[in-house]
Amino acid sequence: MIRFESVTKRYPDGTTAVDGLSFEVAEGELVTLVGPSGCGKTTTMKMVNRLTDPTGGRILVEDRDIATVDPVHLRRRIGYVIQQTGLFPHRTVLDNTATVPLLTGWPRKKARARAAELLELVGLDPAVHGPRYPDQLSGGERQRVGVARALAADPPVLLMDEPFGAVDPVVRDRLQKEFLRLQASLHKTVLLVTHDIEEAIRLGDRIAVYGQGRVEQYDTPASVLGAPASPYVAEFVGSDRALKQLAVTGIDPGDLEHPPFARLGEPAARAAGRLRADGARWAVVLDEEGGLHGWVGTEEMSGGSGGSGGSGGSGGSGGSGAFGASGARGNVSEHARRMEAWVPVSGSLKDAFSEMLKYDAGWIAVVDGTRFLGVLTPAGLHEALRRTIGSGEQGVPRAEAEVDSVPAD
Ligand code: ADP
Repeated sequence: MIRFESVTKRYPDGTTAVDGLSFEVAEGELVTLVGPSGCGKTTTMKMVNRLTDPTGGRILVEDRDIATVDPVHLRRRIGYVIQQTGLFPHRTVLDNTATVPLLTGWPRKKARARAAELLELVGLDPAVHGPRYPDQLSGGERQRVGVARALAADPPVLLMDEPFGAVDPVVRDRLQKEFLRLQASLHKTVLLVTHDIEEAIRLGDRIAVYGQGRVEQYDTPASVLGAPASPYVAEFVGSDRALKQLAVTGIDPGDLEHPPFARLGEPAARAAGRLRADGARWAVVLDEEGGLHGWVGTEEMSGGSGGSGGSGGSGGSGGSGAFGASGARGNVSEHARRMEAWVPVSGSLKDAFSEMLKYDAGWIAVVDGTRFLGVLTPAGLHEALRRTIGSGEQGVPRAEAEVDSVPAD
């Protein structure tokens, strides 16, 4: 969708802002350009919409060398969001948002209707915010208008230069979340400049880590964190990269353990007997469709007698004595407790870990919709992380690492 081929930019004063840049952004992908100030990120963006032209190499957008495309036409295909939002102070929010459709000759009514739709899309009320002027909005609201305006002509490509840089951390967090949600449905091809590695990791499908005028590494957040290409990148992503990695690593069902389970409608005595025979102190409770209902303790289900005598219905004999010798009563459902600690399989290891900490749990259930997939334990979490972080490179010998890991209950 966007391809940089050996792109170099030397400004007339001799400054080389970008030197031999080569990478490709796939359609629908969000790529973050991250690096310290002055490393050439903004210059890269400005070359894409021809606010400035490269002095070497070429850039292709939608398979066309942009040097051959009229800049005005090119910019209609490319939305541009900048930190100061660039809104016209003397125009209302609605008219600001309608700018590009109006420029491209839409009738005013249609352009305004489209603008109202977009304001709604970015979480603003067109009736409330539309008639206001930019200085009557908060910083976060102005940024949203900036995004709405860039989306107005429905361009396939979005360039965003520090779009969330001018707001406080709380608003920034919200805007990032909103933008991710929006992008999940719009699938624009996005280049987003930031100097903040956290933002780059959170938003990017891929990250281009810039050194001075060059891309030092171009890869997924997990790979950049897990296997930095150079000491420079390692330093830039930070010594806590293993922790950051948690946020960008998905849960792999292969890392899950499969604890004993009891069915909701199963007689408690039979379940207790079976679990005790297996030496299990607890079990996950599932409904008939395999959906997660909760969990149950073996002894509690046995009526709290603490006795270890065999129950009437143990060992798969299918005995249906609901009131077994151990004193267990009724069905499993009557003993089941709510499962507080669970995460969807689409979540990250960070989500799983933070739920574990929140509920002080030794393991956490993982579900796909309501279907129970298994439990993630600290050992599984550790295994997943170890796989993503370059082998041996962390310096913790495997044996030692294993001592640290908590065995599954
Ligand atoms: P970043 O966005 O990463 O902060 P820029 O792309 O803005 O970096 O700048 C890269 C380098 O190019 C810097 O050294 C900057 O001073 C220089 N630069 C940017 N614009 C110009 C210009 N118009 N003329 C000369 N040098 C420039």
